[in-house]
Amino acid sequence: SRLVIAIDGPSGTGKSTVARWVAQDLKLSYLDTGANYRAATLWCMRNGLDLTQPETVETQQITELITTMPLAQDLNPNNVSVALDGQDITEAIRTDEVTANVSALSTRPQVRELLVKLQQQAIESRPRIVVEGRDITTVVAPDADARILLTASPEVRMARRRQQLRETDQDPTNVESDVMVRDAKDSALVDFMTPAEGVAEIDSTNLSLEDTVTVVLAEIQR
Ligand code: C5P
Repeated sequence: SRLVIAIDGPSGTGKSTVARWVAQDLKLSYLDTGANYRAATLWCMRNGLDLTQPETVETQQITELITTMPLAQDLNPNNVSVALDGQDITEAIRTDEVTANVSALSTRPQVRELLVKLQQQAIESRPRIVVEGRDITTVVAPDADARILLTASPEVRMARRRQQLRETDQDPTNVESDVMVRDAKDSALVDFMTPAEGVAEIDSTNLSLEDTVTVVLAEIQR
């Protein structure tokens, strides 16, 4: 039977890791919608759109490209991988360049509409799933069986993000802009800082990853 778990939150909360662990634990599929936005961004970049100058790019150019995007996203939590046109882009979508450009897509309602549709199709294809992002509890799957907002203090989120960048051999110097500026841009269209009605907020500021997973699992079983 259907079991959809929706987890939202800003970056640096450990959201992706927690969501993946929960999916592994409950033997569910796993959809990282941030990876979706990142893959679409990389696809637009590879097709010549200069997203560093968003005002020069028309929304229609983006939506046309997304409509033909040859994206394959593996929904297995034990093997998260994303491919474009058969080429693995799992790491390519995590570069600073892509991270900085995503908002050129994610702040456009028509682009969001298209990606939300793709995400809803993925959920229908695997209706036992953990879905993670910014607007899952409110837009993508408001009817989910469990709806959780994962938060943490800005200081802790920046520290976690810094650690994550180091672990993946990336430069942590711009972490402040990466986290705070991106939050500010992202929240222009989606409020992922306050829980919508019926959404359980879990504050992970003082919780280890393991403890956060435990609290999330308890909320799901409630
Ligand atoms: O979660 P992650 O940091 O990988 O997401 C990358 C970007 O994708 C976010 O900064 C945001 O602009 C966008 N995003 C979104 N809605 C989602 C997931 C991600 O707008 N559901």
